[in-house]
Amino acid sequence: MEKWTYDWANFDEFPSKRKSMQKDIEEFYSKYKNLNEANLISSLNEYEHILTNYSYGGEEGYYYWLKSQLNQSDNEIKSKYKEIQDFTIEQFNKINFYRKSIAKLDKNNIISILTSTNNNKYLHFINKIFENEKFILSDKEEKIISLMNEQSYSRWKNMVSELISSETQIINDTEHSFEELISQTISENKEVRDLAAEKINKILSKYEKISEHEFNALLSHYEVIDKLRGYEYPDHSRHIGDDIDKKFIEILTKTVTKNFELSRRFYDLKSKIVKHKLQYYDRTFPVGKINKNFNWEESKKIVKKVLSNLDKEFLEIFELFEKNRFDVFPKKGKRGGAFCVHFTKNLPTYIMLNHTDTIRDVKTLAHEVGHGINNELSRKAQDEIYFGTLTSTAEVASTFFEDFVFRELINNVDNKTKFLLIMQKISDEISTIHRQIAGYNFEKEVHDSFRKNKHLSSKEIGDIFKKNMSAYCGNSVEMEGYENWWIYWSHFRRRFYVYSYASGLLISKGMQNLVDQDKSNIAKVKKFLSAGTSKSPKDLFSEMNIDIYSEKFWNDGLEQINQLLNEAERLYGEMTDE
Ligand SMILES: [Zn+2]
Repeated sequence: MEKWTYDWANFDEFPSKRKSMQKDIEEFYSKYKNLNEANLISSLNEYEHILTNYSYGGEEGYYYWLKSQLNQSDNEIKSKYKEIQDFTIEQFNKINFYRKSIAKLDKNNIISILTSTNNNKYLHFINKIFENEKFILSDKEEKIISLMNEQSYSRWKNMVSELISSETQIINDTEHSFEELISQTISENKEVRDLAAEKINKILSKYEKISEHEFNALLSHYEVIDKLRGYEYPDHSRHIGDDIDKKFIEILTKTVTKNFELSRRFYDLKSKIVKHKLQYYDRTFPVGKINKNFNWEESKKIVKKVLSNLDKEFLEIFELFEKNRFDVFPKKGKRGGAFCVHFTKNLPTYIMLNHTDTIRDVKTLAHEVGHGINNELSRKAQDEIYFGTLTSTAEVASTFFEDFVFRELINNVDNKTKFLLIMQKISDEISTIHRQIAGYNFEKEVHDSFRKNKHLSSKEIGDIFKKNMSAYCGNSVEMEGYENWWIYWSHFRRRFYVYSYASGLLISKGMQNLVDQDKSNIAKVKKFLSAGTSKSPKDLFSEMNIDIYSEKFWNDGLEQINQLLNEAERLYGEMTDE
């Protein structure tokens, strides 16, 4: 079936489920507001019960959220969703005290209670609470911080993004929004790209001074909060929140930065192919048109073939989705792009696509199904507290399956298509790995410099941006004149998030290497995909005998891109007789 159905949703029971949410939460509060070692274990069980059944509004929340994705202009659905969301937040606020109460107990006593009663499952959960709680302030201080967040962070950030997105520019008598201009910068037509970039530059320089103040406000907001909470350096809170450590980030960023030679070599090749120096926005436009199409049935067939070659269970999971968990085709009012979603452990996975028969759509299908397989394996192995993925590894499964499908695709096309596919693939991977790490390096430098100087002018921010983008783009890419393009890179406002794209894809490549060496290693991959959030990447990898603190691990992943680039250079030489 190509449409979602909601066979699990009991509409009649929505009102009574709300009542049980309220009742269970109130009971939890009165039973455990005085938490102690004696009632800890029953509290953990009941806490998990509440999370499993009511997080994000439970069935009712999930149902209206899903519906709203397919009918974005339907205000009735929107307000139903908002209603259950507000209700849920209000209820869950009543049990905010819980983690704090745990952190007030004696850690060693808790650990011995858990181990002696065979409740080891909660150990990681408890450890993480203690680690996080070190940085949590008193209730009153936390309340002030959360109330002030709107003024010192959100409103600044929203102001700039709203100002920019409401801008339009006229090209050939037609009005173009900022978003439209951005998408025109990847057009195959050079004139379209150049004109769009000129207009983008106009908008960005209009808001340069405003963004300077916005960004300084955010840098200052983060510095103040970090100081209050006791974080020691700008990306410390990111490491704690994502369950990774400083060493992990250092080895990742250092190794990728050392490999910027690879991305520079790619842009050299691209510049040679298109016979002009690339401008900063010329990084991603395709160097030729791919004329091969795949309808929905053909796309499914390819993905299923790849899955069944890897492992029978992967195929079974796909067939489960195939019944009624894909919404496949574009439709008026439906959200753009693609996603795979899960709310809680007892609600099914859904995948939304906008399939238009391109080769990219086949890869997207593989990508989202990868997330779905990850969900299903983690659902099978984990309870609610560990159901889901860590930020640093959230994209491992998706890119793992996407890459295997890519290999299948290039084996069945002519040389020219193969060349174009490989060029597109390397371009995507550089955007995911090298570019994001260059972004991380930029953020580090900006935060450090702000903490020394207390204000950075837009020129100073622009110079740091130019320097870090040039580092991975190289001499074939012109950076002069694009100093303001950090302004609309929204991830910089969610500081230090960008590394997760690079870590996910490179870990996935490490997994691919394992399977290439020995097919039986798929068991290790499955174990990894089943782990949910039950272990930090550090522990998980050491159990698998993989040393993520060695440069070699990351270099081996990057080597796959190097080989693709060798192949692209070879094919290009062959086609041009060079
Ligand atoms: Zn993804």
